[in-house]
Formats: sequence, structure tokens, C-alpha cells
Amino acid sequence: MKKSYKTKTRDYILEFLSAHKNKRFSAKEIYDFITCDNKNINLATIYRNLQTLQDEGVLLKHQAADNDYATYQYIENSNCLAHFHFECKKCGKVVHLGAKETNDFLKMIKTKMFFTVEPQNTYITGICNDCKGVFFEI
Ligand SMILES: [Zn+2]
Ligand SMILES: [Zn+2]
Repeated sequence: MKKSYKTKTRDYILEFLSAHKNKRFSAKEIYDFITCDNKNINLATIYRNLQTLQDEGVLLKHQAADNDYATYQYIENSNCLAHFHFECKKCGKVVHLGAKETNDFLKMIKTKMFFTVEPQNTYITGICNDCKGVFFEI
């Protein structure tokens, strides 16, 4: 009984995140969405499932340096661990950068600065083409 309950939470998380592949969400946002229909799931269960899914490579976890909470995004293919992502500050859209662009950048940083960058933890932020020219306040 306990096992099927756990599996259900996992299914809800995957269902939600896979339906919004271009965005990343905090555990609280995922919780708020899921508990709209299923009030008996608690936040700790969400966190546990997110950790498991991250360990399995199903979700990409992003911990911003200026944020005290992490966000999660569904990974369509394992390449997500090897390339950079661009996130639009206005619409929240996440774009997967190509392997070539990522590798060129990694190579440059390593050769010139001797840094080893982890692509899975690196988000480039800015304004996407769709949102360019649209006025907004941060
Ligand atoms: Zn990706
Ligand atoms: Zn945008």
C-alpha cells in the first residue's frame, strides 16, 4: 500500500514536469500544482521523489547561487547533462544549447583559465527571441 502511494507521487511529478519540459520548477511549485487535486501528499514526499528522480538522471536539478531553493526540470535525453541551458528571464523558457557550442566554451575556459565547468549546473540567463523588445519589470 505504501509503495503504490509513493509511486503515485512519482507519477504526478513526472506527469507535471514532462508536460512542461521547457521550464524548471521549485519543489514548492510542483507541490502546489499536485496538491490542487491530491491534498494528501506532503512536501517531504515530493522532495524525496525529486531526489530519487535526480539520482536516476530523469530530472535536472539546478541550484542557483543567489537562490536558497533548487529547481527541477525534466530531461528529454541524457545530453542535458552535457550541454548548457539558456533561461529566459521573462517567460521562463529553457533552451538546450548545442553540444558544439557547449564544448567550444568548455574548451576555451579550460585552456585559458584552467577551470572545469559543470554544464548541468550552468544556466545562461537573458531574454529569448520571442520576448525581445517587450517591456517588462523585474
Ligand atoms: Zn538540455
Ligand atoms: Zn522569453
